[in-house]
Amino acid sequence: MIGTGYVGLVTGSCLADIGHQVICIDKDKSKIDVLNAGGIPIYEPGLKELVDRNRKKKRIRFSTDIKEGVQFADIVFIAVNTPPLPDGGADLSFVEACTREVASHANGKKLLVEKSTVPVQTGERITQTLAVFNAKAGLIEVASNPEFLREGSAIADFSKPDRIVVGVQSKWAEKMMRDLYKPVKAPMVITDIKSAELIKHASNSFLAIKISYINALAEICEKVGADVTKVAEGMGLDSRIGRAFLHAGIGYGGSCFPKDVSAFIKIAELNGYDFKMLKATEQINNEARKQMVRKLESVIWTVKGKTIGVLGLAFKPNTDDLRNAPAIDIIEELLARGAKVRTYDPVAMDRFKQLQPDITYCTSGLDVAKGCDGLLLVTEWPEFKKLSPAKLKSVMRAPVIVDGRNAFDPEKMGKAGINYQSVGRASYVVRDRRKPTQLKVVA
Ligand code: NAD
Repeated sequence: MIGTGYVGLVTGSCLADIGHQVICIDKDKSKIDVLNAGGIPIYEPGLKELVDRNRKKKRIRFSTDIKEGVQFADIVFIAVNTPPLPDGGADLSFVEACTREVASHANGKKLLVEKSTVPVQTGERITQTLAVFNAKAGLIEVASNPEFLREGSAIADFSKPDRIVVGVQSKWAEKMMRDLYKPVKAPMVITDIKSAELIKHASNSFLAIKISYINALAEICEKVGADVTKVAEGMGLDSRIGRAFLHAGIGYGGSCFPKDVSAFIKIAELNGYDFKMLKATEQINNEARKQMVRKLESVIWTVKGKTIGVLGLAFKPNTDDLRNAPAIDIIEELLARGAKVRTYDPVAMDRFKQLQPDITYCTSGLDVAKGCDGLLLVTEWPEFKKLSPAKLKSVMRAPVIVDGRNAFDPEKMGKAGINYQSVGRASYVVRDRRKPTQLKVVA
C-alpha cells in the first residue's frame, strides 16, 4: 500500500484483517514512526484496535522504503493523495512519483492498482510512465479499484461495501482482484479501467449534486416559509430518490467532494464537455457556507468586537480531517471582520491549532458558549445536539444561534428565548427589543 493516509492505512489494515500480508509505505517518516511506535497518526473509530490486532498477528508492517514494499508485494496499491491544482484539476504528481518508483523497483510480475481517486485516463498515463521509466515489458499491469469508504465509518465501509469496483485489462488481473476480495461479501463490478475511474468521479459528483439540490431547495423554503426537512422527508420516501444526502446545511467539505467535483469538471473540459450541472453544484456549495456569518449579522448587526462561538471544526463528525472544512473559511471570515472566536471540537482541535493558534480553545460546547454574542454550529457532533437550549442561553451574553447543520430543534430553541436560525426551516428571531420574550416566526 503506497500512501498510508486515511485510505491507505484503513484499506491496508482491513486487507490484513481478512488474511493478507500487507506492507504500508509512506514517504512521511513521522507517520511511519508513529505507527512503528504503536500509535495511529489519524483519528478513525476502531482503527487502533484493527491495526494492533493485525500487527500482533504479524500481517501488517510499516516502512518508508518503497523498494522493500514493491519487491514484497504481488499487488501494489497507489493510495497517495490527489489534491486539487489551482485550475481545479487533480494534482497527479504524487501518483506519477510513485509510479516511477514502482517502475524502477519491480522485480517480478505485479498488479499496480489505482486506489487514489484519479480522473479518467489516468490509467493510460500510468501505463505510459511505466514504459518511459523502463519497467520491464509485461512485468507490471495496471488496474483500477476506486475507494468509496467514508471517514468516520471507514472500517465498516470496507467490510460491508455496497459494491467493489474493479477496472482491469486481463483475466489474470480480474482473478487477482477477485481472490484479494474473496472474504468480502459484496457485488463486484468488473469493467475496463476508464469506466472504473469514471464510476468514482461520477458517484461523488452525483452525491454532491444531491447536497446542492437540497440546499437550493432550502433557499426557496426560507423565502416562502416552508420546511426543508419535511420537503426532504417527502421526497426521500420515494424509493427512486432516497433520503440519503438530502440534508440541507452549509454544504459539503472534506478531502473528497470539493476536489473530485472540480477535477471532474476539469477532465470533462479537457475532453471537450462543459459540465454546467457540476459548475452550478459547486457554486451553490460555495455560497452555502457564506450564509453563516450573513445570518448571524442579520441579528447582531456586526460581529466586529464581539465574541463568537464556533461549535465543531472537522468537516464532519467522527473525523479529525480538516481538509476543506467549512470551519476554516467561517473562522477566517469572523476574524477578518474583527470578531473574537471561541471554539471546541472533540478531536480536531490539535490540528486546527496549527492553522489558527490565536483563537480560544474550550473544553466543551457549553464552555464555548460562555460570554458569546453569537454561536455557530458548524459540525454536528452528537454531543452538541444534546446541549440544552436553556443552559446555552444562561451562559451566553446574547442568545443568538445559527445552526448550519439543522441539528437543533427550532421550536425548543425559540421557546428557550434564543434567536435561532437554521437552514431552510423556521427561524425564531426576537424583533422587538422592548419585549424580548416575544417570538416571531420570520421564515
Ligand atoms: P492522505 O493525504 O491522508 O494520505 C496520502 C498519503 O500518501 C500521505 O500520507 C502521503 O505522505 C503519502 N504519499 C504521497 N506521495 C507518496 C509517495 N510518492 N510515496 C509514498 N507515500 C506517499 O490522503 P487520503 O485521504 O488517504 O486519500 C488518498 C486518496 O484516496 C486520494 O486520492 C483521495 O481522493 C482518495 N479517497 C479518499 C477518501 C477519504 O475519505 N479520505 C475516500 C475515498 C477516496
